[in-house]
Amino acid sequence: ICEAQCAFCAYHAHAGRVEPYELTLDDICRKTEELIAGGGTQVMLQGGLHPDHRLDNYLTMIKTVREQFPEIYLHSFSPAELIHIAKKSGISLDEVIRSLKDAGLNSVPGASDLLVDRIRNAVSPKKCSREEWCEVMRSLSRYSMTSTATMTYGMGETLAERIAHLEVIRDIQDETGILKAFIPWSFSPARTLLEHISPATGLDYLKIVAIARIFLDNITFIQAGWLTEGTKLAQIALTAGANDMGGVLTEEVVVKATGIETQITMNGMISLIRDAGKIPVQRDSQYREIRRFE
Ligand code: SF4
Repeated sequence: ICEAQCAFCAYHAHAGRVEPYELTLDDICRKTEELIAGGGTQVMLQGGLHPDHRLDNYLTMIKTVREQFPEIYLHSFSPAELIHIAKKSGISLDEVIRSLKDAGLNSVPGASDLLVDRIRNAVSPKKCSREEWCEVMRSLSRYSMTSTATMTYGMGETLAERIAHLEVIRDIQDETGILKAFIPWSFSPARTLLEHISPATGLDYLKIVAIARIFLDNITFIQAGWLTEGTKLAQIALTAGANDMGGVLTEEVVVKATGIETQITMNGMISLIRDAGKIPVQRDSQYREIRRFE
C-alpha cells in the first residue's frame, strides 16, 4: 500500500504484482521473534507511503518492538517515509526523527534510488525529492543518527547523471559524516512499469563499484549487492573495491516482487568471501567488528 506508485517498483499494490497487505503489530513481533531465534540481530521495518498512517502509528511500531525485544537493532524507515510522516502529521522532519529516536529507532536506511531530479521526476515524482533526501540526512546528523546511501542505476540515466548521484552523496557525507556505507544495485525492470528497459550488465555493476570506491573516498564501506546482482558477481565485486557484503536475510519482499530470489547462509557467505581471497569478518549493525574467520 503506497501513495507514491513509483514506476520502477514492482512492490506497490498498483503494480498489480503483490496483493495489498498490512502487517499487524503481532505479525511484526512474531517475525522479530523468528529472526532472533535464527540468530538475527537487526530489524529493517520499511513500508510504502501509507495514506492513513501518522507519526503515532510509527511510534507504536518502534515502541512495541523495542519493549518486547530490547536487544534488537532497529534500522528502519526510509527517507521517503520520514518525509511522508512529517507531511501527513503536519510536523517538522526534526520532530519526526527526534520522536522515533526517543522511541528506540537506531538508524535509517538510505534508500536513495537516483538523486537526480530529471530521473526522479520521471519515475518517482511523488516520492521525496533529492533536496528532501539531503534534508533527512542533515536532520539525522543533528540527532547523532547514522544512515547509508544506495544507488539504483539503469533507469534511463546518462553516465553523467550517475556521477551526479555520487556527487550528491559525497557532498552530504562531507557535510554530515553519517553515511556508514554505499550500496549500489541495478534496477530490475521485470514486472515493473519500466519493463521495456534492458537490465544493466554485470560489467556496469563492477564499473560502478570501482568508480564509487575511488570517488567516495569519504565513505568507508562499499557493499557488494549479492541479493540483486547474485552471489558470484558480488564475490567479484570484492576484488573491484567492495569491502562489505551486508547481512544474511530472513525475509525480503521488495526485490522478490521483481522475480529475484537470491539467498545465502552465513556459512555460504564466509566461503564466498574466503574464495575471493579475503578474510571474512562478522560485524554488527554499527559496523563494529564482532569476529574474524581467519
Ligand atoms: S519504491 Fe517505495 S515509495 Fe515508490 S512505490 Fe515502491 S514502496 Fe512506494
